[in-house]
Amino acid sequence: MCIFCKIVNREIPVKLIYEDEFVVAFDDINPTAPAHFLVIPKIHISTLNEITSENSNMLAKIFEVIPKLAKEKGVDEKGYRVVANCNSEGGQEVFHIHFHVIGGKQCKWPAV
Ligand code: 5GP
Ligand code: ZN
Repeated sequence: MCIFCKIVNREIPVKLIYEDEFVVAFDDINPTAPAHFLVIPKIHISTLNEITSENSNMLAKIFEVIPKLAKEKGVDEKGYRVVANCNSEGGQEVFHIHFHVIGGKQCKWPAV
């Protein structure tokens, strides 16, 4: 089972900042900004390439949760960045889809 499935199943103790039927969110263990949390689907989908019309409903749930949590973290007004890395050149390290939400500092563009 992947590490994020273990977090979903509460086999690894992580303080969740949000949970519902479809989604959980928690702070990144290695934050890159004052606010850095991850929003993930409960179902295991390894990369963005595995999104299909059968499982894409979780994306709407994730993007409903992101602005709520951004507001709770106090970064909604100044702004924040949402990042999803895919496979090696995208910089993906955990192969269970997740959306990084990064705020509390000025993000730079281009990101690479
Ligand atoms: P990726 O590079 O796959 O887009 O990002 C994976 C993210 O997951 C990294 O930012 C990393 O710090 C975070 N991460 C990996 N393992 C854990 C963990 O066990 N707990 C938490 N809270 N974050 C994790
Ligand atoms: Zn998983």
